[in-house]
Amino acid sequence: MKAHDALYIDGAWRPATSAETLDVVDPVGERVIGQVPAGTAEDVDAAVRAARAALPGWAATPPAVRAAFLGAIRDGLRDRAEELAATVTAELGAPAKIASRVHAGLPVAVAASYAELAATHPFEEKVGNSVVYAEPVGVVGAITPWNYPLHQIVAKVAPALAAGCTIVVKPAEDTPLTAQLFAGIVDAAGLPAGVFNLVTGLGPVAGQALAEHPDVDLVSFTGSTAVGRRIGAVAGGAVKRVALELGGKSANVILPSADLAKAVSAGVANVMANSGQTCSAWTRMLVPAERYEEAVALAAEAAAAYRPGERLGPLVSAKQRERVRGYIARGVEEGARLVVGGPEAPLETGYYVSPTVFADVTPEMTIAREEIFGPVLSIMRYEDEDEALAIANGTEYGLGGAVWGEQEEAAAFARRMETGQVDINGGRFNPLAPFGGYKQSGVGRELGAHGLAEYLQTKSLQF
Ligand code: NAD
Repeated sequence: MKAHDALYIDGAWRPATSAETLDVVDPVGERVIGQVPAGTAEDVDAAVRAARAALPGWAATPPAVRAAFLGAIRDGLRDRAEELAATVTAELGAPAKIASRVHAGLPVAVAASYAELAATHPFEEKVGNSVVYAEPVGVVGAITPWNYPLHQIVAKVAPALAAGCTIVVKPAEDTPLTAQLFAGIVDAAGLPAGVFNLVTGLGPVAGQALAEHPDVDLVSFTGSTAVGRRIGAVAGGAVKRVALELGGKSANVILPSADLAKAVSAGVANVMANSGQTCSAWTRMLVPAERYEEAVALAAEAAAAYRPGERLGPLVSAKQRERVRGYIARGVEEGARLVVGGPEAPLETGYYVSPTVFADVTPEMTIAREEIFGPVLSIMRYEDEDEALAIANGTEYGLGGAVWGEQEEAAAFARRMETGQVDINGGRFNPLAPFGGYKQSGVGRELGAHGLAEYLQTKSLQF
């Protein structure tokens, strides 16, 4: 993969105003593999001005034509899937299988869904004596994290373009190469200049400048709750739209009627996927007391099969590894039972953390409350359904979740959970289903028609 020494602004790669760069580090080999420009507030301003200038033309482009551009982006993503997967592996450390299936594969499905939605969405509706128009919100500032570097960008760019918005993306500092590759795909798709712009740079510099820019109409942010809170406050002060996709502490509720072995093995796989760096990961497994030890033994065996350096990739950075190790140490200190794993480094090189399972975790422990963002599972015990529900809902977060058991019973339980998305008996991922949080997990939804609605505002004419 090649690093561009420029920013993508107004349809071309342009040098940044500052000579400063950010190092991109391979988390497996701990080596610098590239450098990208550290964009400044001035660069962000140039990108926002380009997006503003392109807005009238793009907003007036018929949805069917916007759909065709999205189709070209989808094709570009598909054609360059191998290169994209290799780039995600290089800068995130994702093992080859998840890199190609999820990191490179999912964005193709998301782009395809918006190519379709752009062509079919009713941007104009008759309601009694009114015509209601769904119009683009305007210029979007998108700030994305490193955990799913391509998906997080496509999940914002595709609906924004479908809606007729123009956009400036500030990708995570740890994974800018995937973002640059995506900009190349957009460029090859032939979008009008200024419709899509990419400014790499530091969060507190380029990210903050984008969030605070007075000419940005909507800030769409995915990342930590701490930064999300600040972005929400800035947007509130300026009375501009904001979408926040934040952290999670999702519950995996195994009911007494569940197939225990299946539920535990899927639960462990869900937490270990992407080395635990998934905001909706089912990090709290809730098991009926009478089957508790059986579940712990199954989980320990399943987790131990995620060998670091093979099925389990490293964490994205030394900083994240230290953070996760700190949480593991805290779990031990607070009296949780370490069943497998621990804070010791499993390999000499690479930002690896061992797959870790804690039993006897109680709701007040730090590891049961805070987002760890690593391959760490907490197994909790409950006596009856009411207690299971109280534990599941006893968190400030509400992003994902799972319920296992007799189908109707499981669905009824899921309806009582305070969370945005619940998988019943391992329900398959659906790119059209809205994704987003209750409570502190965020504001707004991504994906499908609900994701599109984030980028639209309505106007009604009465006749
Ligand atoms: P972060 O919130 O600091 O970074 C996310 C994005 O926000 C990056 O592009 C970053 O450059 C930008 N940013 C940082 N400070 C900013 C500011 N002041 N103004 C505007 N933009 C800013 O997240 P992180 O430090 O990379 O990760 C820390 C924790 O966040 C993780 O351990 C995890 O708990 C959580 N996280 C959640 C998700 C998610 O998908 N919900 C993704 C990544 C991280």
